[in-house]
Amino acid sequence: MSVRSETTTTETHDVVVIGGGPAGAAAAWVCARNGWDVVVVEKAAFPREKVCGGCLSPMGVRSLETLGLGTAARQAGVSLQRFDCAAGSRRAQFQLDGTGVAIGRELLDDLILTRACAAGAERLRGIAHVDHHDNAMCEVAVSGGECTRRIRAKVVIAADGLSGTCLPEGDYWRPKIVKTSWFGVGARLPARFGPDLCDRHLIAMRCGVEGYFGAVRLSDGTVDVAAALSPGATKRAGGPGAAVAEIARYCRVDPAFACEAVWRGTPLLTRTRRAEGPGVFVVGDCAGYVEPFTGEGISWALAGGLAVSKYIGAALRGTYRAGAWSDALTRIVGQRRVSCRLTTIALRRSWLLQPALALLSATPSAAALFAPLVAGPWRLAGAP
Ligand SMILES: Cc1cc2nc3c(=O)[nH]c(=O)nc-3n(C[C@H](O)[C@H](O)[C@H](O)COP(=O)(O)OP(=O)(O)OC[C@H]3O[C@@H](n4cnc5c(N)ncnc54)[C@H](O)[C@@H]3O)c2cc1C
Repeated sequence: MSVRSETTTTETHDVVVIGGGPAGAAAAWVCARNGWDVVVVEKAAFPREKVCGGCLSPMGVRSLETLGLGTAARQAGVSLQRFDCAAGSRRAQFQLDGTGVAIGRELLDDLILTRACAAGAERLRGIAHVDHHDNAMCEVAVSGGECTRRIRAKVVIAADGLSGTCLPEGDYWRPKIVKTSWFGVGARLPARFGPDLCDRHLIAMRCGVEGYFGAVRLSDGTVDVAAALSPGATKRAGGPGAAVAEIARYCRVDPAFACEAVWRGTPLLTRTRRAEGPGVFVVGDCAGYVEPFTGEGISWALAGGLAVSKYIGAALRGTYRAGAWSDALTRIVGQRRVSCRLTTIALRRSWLLQPALALLSATPSAAALFAPLVAGPWRLAGAP
């Protein structure tokens, strides 16, 4: 390997993880615990903001318990005890079992990445790009720090999220983006908007015809609001704030918050991508995402990050069977992704959603039967 300039250093590791969000940090933690030499490259200084509803499902809390962070997350967050869904004047509310948690991503992601470093992962600040990968050795360029680093690693874990560009360009790694996909926006609002938007311990989902938003109160009283919006409707409304305000008015919520918020956006949400290539394993949103309605992207990211180490181990030993990680990821999140996709398709049909909510709120037996479909992976109070 040639050293390209005086400010370039070259180093070798077993594993390089690109992205220090939940997927990358969980993967780094488990790899470090296995005794492998692992470096995590993260471009942002933590704590960093992230467009997200901040709702961690019971499945995500279980993964945090594996990481030894269950208590810390519960203490830093607010337990979620009710799910309230409205579309226009129709509304249904479900009692949750309280094991899910609302937590700001600046807190959660910092907890997990710090945990990975405590387990022995090295943390490096910079923007990483995979220049070359095969089953023998991968090469990653890291820029943005004091000097450019070139890292050689036996394995790369790509965990750079929805908008990540760390993988080589070209057809092989290009994500498949659903044409009708919506995009995400998010904002953090001062506590004074809490009474208009949602109570503590509540997930408030407000659905319009071409978008929806969710709101939760965080432990400091501020309100995390995140939305999925149709690009066309957002353009017609005059921007994300105006589009969210329209949904609020439709659901009889004071829209003042939407005009005051500073919205941050994401690329189109619904996408899939190959989960592996020679020497490369893909986890979290980088491997695909659906939509935020069911609040489980963090849980999928954590579950994938924790599960990948078995396949990394095989790759390090030279016994990896191509396709095994793709199959495993499908087993771990495939079924939930399909359910989430069906929910989001139903959400685009207001003629279906409104009567469904009316039925759920009026008929307890229907609620017991169908609520798990609406509430996704959120466990209802009293459920077995
Ligand atoms: C509007 C909205 C609301 C949501 N609400 C919820 C919710 O309530 N509950 C839930 O469970 N999920 C929710 N999600 C989904 C959730 O945010 C994601 O699924 C989750 O963050 C995925 O984690 P990740 O680690 O894969 O990616 P990320 O959390 O995006 O982390 C990727 C990391 O990689 C870093 N990075 C990117 N490129 C590079 C590079 N080249 N080099 C180095 N570092 C890089 C980034 O800085 C980032 O820190 C929501 C998503 C949206 C859009």
